[in-house]
Amino acid sequence: MDNDTLLYRIPDAELENYMCDTDEEDALVSSSPFRYHNISHDDMLNGNGLRVVLWMSGCSHKCPGCQNPETWDCNGGIPFTEWDKAEVYEQLSKDYIKGITFSGGDPLYVGNREAVHQLILEVRKLFPTKDVWLYTGYTLKQSERGFYFSDDCPWYGGEFPDQFTLPWLDQIDVIVDGHFDKDIRAKDLKEGADPHWRGSSNQRVIDIKETLKECKIIELGGV
Ligand code: SF4
Repeated sequence: MDNDTLLYRIPDAELENYMCDTDEEDALVSSSPFRYHNISHDDMLNGNGLRVVLWMSGCSHKCPGCQNPETWDCNGGIPFTEWDKAEVYEQLSKDYIKGITFSGGDPLYVGNREAVHQLILEVRKLFPTKDVWLYTGYTLKQSERGFYFSDDCPWYGGEFPDQFTLPWLDQIDVIVDGHFDKDIRAKDLKEGADPHWRGSSNQRVIDIKETLKECKIIELGGV
């Protein structure tokens, strides 16, 4: 069988019905605040309960053994448009969906931070009963001046430490922090440990509300 018999060709006369309004599409794409790879529905592996998960593009950590290296490129994936936001909101409007998880890639990749902040603010306003989880390769740290994030990857080769504060930290319920470490993961597997919601046991599942209340890093109980 040759290719012509395998492929269905849309007749030229019908082609227009299958094409987008390019002006409208171009406008939506150019106003896209970030790029992403996938929106998972009814996800049970990336946070408590059934969740919608947004897999964002862009990550500077480059952990050896990363499961999603295709998400490292901030220009990879596709633009997040109003249509995609509508899909996320449709999922969040379901009673059985506990909340939203931002993953990637890294939602705290420098080019993603402000867009994630705006989306979280909107989610909080529209869905006040849903919770917000966020996965990052940065490590949450504490100094006498407050909490900040730091790139603690042992292979980090930058001249200056990549550190920043997140003034809107209180908008997040749970942060799973730290780089993925394949050697620690191998040790976890060897010892029969299955770190819940984490790739390797050096990562922490941090209860942000309790952390801010107690002024010290508090991990989520029962993990
Ligand atoms: S932080 Fe996550 S997405 Fe980024 S390289 Fe590490 S494991 Fe992969």
